[in-house]
Amino acid sequence: MRTLKLTCKMCRREGVSLCGRDKCALKRRPFPPGVHGATARPARQTEYGKQLREKQKAKRIYGVSERQFRNYFEKALKMRGDSGENLVRLLETRLDNTVFRAGLAKSRPAARQAVSHAHIEVDGQRVNVPSYQVRPGEIIRVREIKRGKGSWKTLADAPKVEAPSWVAPSLKDLEAKVTSLPAGEELKQLFSPKLIIEFYSR
Ligand code: ZN
Repeated sequence: MRTLKLTCKMCRREGVSLCGRDKCALKRRPFPPGVHGATARPARQTEYGKQLREKQKAKRIYGVSERQFRNYFEKALKMRGDSGENLVRLLETRLDNTVFRAGLAKSRPAARQAVSHAHIEVDGQRVNVPSYQVRPGEIIRVREIKRGKGSWKTLADAPKVEAPSWVAPSLKDLEAKVTSLPAGEELKQLFSPKLIIEFYSR
């Protein structure tokens, strides 16, 4: 699988810290990269341009390839209900994103690494596939044998994050329960799913 190399140029381009680094360059330079980044007026964007940017932003936030993203779109179309909401729900319920949302990792890249290095179990079963889709009722936990390692030891003392309504973390137990599926406003916080559906529907 091709992994996207994440640089802070992307964080600055999207105006969202994607890397999760404490020293993300977006904090120091909160404007788009490039010589005219600080001074340029926002370019007049075509509809297509806006849709494309929104798609790129979503892709980078979740760190998925174009092919994977396209698959999520196809799947979202076949599901009942609003396609845009389905798309975001599919992305949000990836195991790596859920680990991040629960506060078990400080960034999505860190969450993905925890999953792929087999630190995480779902309902007692080791799962090392970041794209695994979590379901309501499932318990996500850091595996016992990995708990002595690195950042897990100090995680319980980490500042609490505000988890979304569909995950109930218990950081002192290094676990989180998926209580429901993400819905409503929680699906519209990072980008506009509508523009992305329009992009692929052209
Ligand atoms: Zn960054």
